[in-house]
Amino acid sequence: MSRSLVSSRRNFIKGSVAVAATAIASTPVMAAAVGQLPQKWDAEGDVVIVGFGGAGATTAIVAAQNGANVVVLEKNPQNKHISNTRMSGGIFHCPFKDGDKKALKDYAQAMFSGENIPWKEEGEIPEYSEGLAQIWADYSPSNLEFMQSLDPAFIGGSQPGYDKASFPGFPGAKDCRYNAYRATYTKRMKNFNQVSYGKPKEETSSGEAFWLCLEEGVKKQGDKIKVLWETPAVELLKNSKGEIVGVVGTMNGKPYYVRAKKAVVLCSGGYEYSKPMRQAFLEGPGVDGWAFYGTTSNTGDGIAMGQAVGAGLQKAGKSAARLIVPTQVRHNGMRLGSITPAVGSANSIVVDNFGNRYEAETKITDNPSRYFFYKAAVNFDINSLSYPRTPSWMIFDEKLRTSKPLVGLGISTVGYGFVDWDAKNEKPVASGLILKADTIEDLAKLIKNHPENKDRMVPENLVKTVEKFNQFCDEKKDADFGRRPATLGKIQQGPFYAMPLVAGGPNTKGGLLADADRRVLTWDGTPIPRLYSVGEIASALKFVYQGGGNLTECLVYGRHVGKNVAKLPDTNL
Ligand SMILES: Cc1cc2nc3c(=O)[nH]c(=O)nc-3n(C[C@H](O)[C@H](O)[C@H](O)COP(=O)(O)OP(=O)(O)OC[C@H]3O[C@@H](n4cnc5c(N)ncnc54)[C@H](O)[C@@H]3O)c2cc1C
Repeated sequence: MSRSLVSSRRNFIKGSVAVAATAIASTPVMAAAVGQLPQKWDAEGDVVIVGFGGAGATTAIVAAQNGANVVVLEKNPQNKHISNTRMSGGIFHCPFKDGDKKALKDYAQAMFSGENIPWKEEGEIPEYSEGLAQIWADYSPSNLEFMQSLDPAFIGGSQPGYDKASFPGFPGAKDCRYNAYRATYTKRMKNFNQVSYGKPKEETSSGEAFWLCLEEGVKKQGDKIKVLWETPAVELLKNSKGEIVGVVGTMNGKPYYVRAKKAVVLCSGGYEYSKPMRQAFLEGPGVDGWAFYGTTSNTGDGIAMGQAVGAGLQKAGKSAARLIVPTQVRHNGMRLGSITPAVGSANSIVVDNFGNRYEAETKITDNPSRYFFYKAAVNFDINSLSYPRTPSWMIFDEKLRTSKPLVGLGISTVGYGFVDWDAKNEKPVASGLILKADTIEDLAKLIKNHPENKDRMVPENLVKTVEKFNQFCDEKKDADFGRRPATLGKIQQGPFYAMPLVAGGPNTKGGLLADADRRVLTWDGTPIPRLYSVGEIASALKFVYQGGGNLTECLVYGRHVGKNVAKLPDTNL
């Protein structure tokens, strides 16, 4: 990586933190300004979109293709625009077209709400899940075709393990011919440790390639899509009939009024970096007990704006989360995480604060359990009244440390310059993030003295746990938790290491209450006229999650909503 890229990334971080801070400060908590419409609007569009990630770009493109003039408000400046879409792995679903359509709908509905599964207990609201599943079945098989219609050079790379249904026992799984691709522009796809950001389009893979393709699609629409950079949206405006007719943004520190003649679509992402929302919605210690590894720009603004005009919420605490490393980099007091694919590797285990294993470590990184492992991690012990697994500790040896990077270097917070980490994992050891000792017993003592362990570690426990694990390795069978046998490599080559892990992952999923057409609803289920939401601000994947689902819903519901809002009649003020 060139020095200038590193330094421009550092500058970007400073810039993005400042921009995000402005947006937080100006996020409205007041009631909607009904009847207080401006005398003069600064800009006008048929469709106004808040947020320019995968959801916003797809909705904008399809609305414009259907004849609408679109205005997009984006918080970040154009040259420092990093969304979750861009930082992502770029995996998106695209079931094969010869699969059974009814089976595909059934499978989608099972993922969203599971009410077609006998033991289903929670998830998307049943009234909306069937419609959501129908739209998924209608659009998702042509996702790759849609992307290639924006840019014929775009390639759907095959990603091992993602070419089938992750939940083979679900209704429809057998006959729907499920499949996912990873975005790329190069035939030899980059792995997750190779940086795409800042490279020519032809050399990109993952989220960067996915985003560049959408950008091509936006460019093709010419003047029909206008992006207002560095203009965080702060408030929605209603007319006297209760319809949403505009958005107030902040441009150069001043209010900027954007009139929406047909609809407003909220695509501003989740609340990964909103401290109050994390405190309100996330299970356990929502701030220090969690970390995320996407953009710091997603601060729940759209959720707050929707609430201010009467929107309800649904499954607000849901998240695509597992256990990840919280780094020492902070944004507004919250730790930035990093994608941690090495968890569950040979020569390592994960223990709680007392030194005990509690699950098969491979479930932390295997698909699909990696997308809901946080449920096991944020476990409240009703006897000690504490969270024994917050943080958890990855215990590993020198063999693992020197064999590969513990975090993904090419995507996420490292690939986009938020966090500095090297291939040999020396920097996090030097900084003290990763603890190091010559023996397991000494390592346990270091953990015990760590402020987050709060003196709970029992050194003899950890020693016994490692000995037992090593015995399982000899026997080639994890008799306690059934971990994937291929990963049973002993922890034996000193020095030994401990890395903290907390609940977290790419993004939150819960948010605004919305129906199948993604109309935002009040608590009693009434649509707020002309207000829509797409993307992780209100994910449909509220029961379980198959890898690639978030980008898929940007495409599926962005296409559906873009088409529908373009056809609405104009509103009067
Ligand atoms: C490292 C990583 C890997 C991932 N891998 C995958 C994967 O392989 N497949 C998959 O399906 N999903 C993946 N995800 C999740 C997926 O990327 C996101 O859920 C998805 O991209 C969300 O799209 P979005 O448009 O809703 O949000 P974003 O892409 O985050 O876009 C939201 C935009 O809104 C802007 N914004 C925020 N507030 C305001 C405001 N007040 N005014 C104006 N603009 C605002 C933000 O700056 C941002 O540009 C991954 C995520 C991460 C972080």
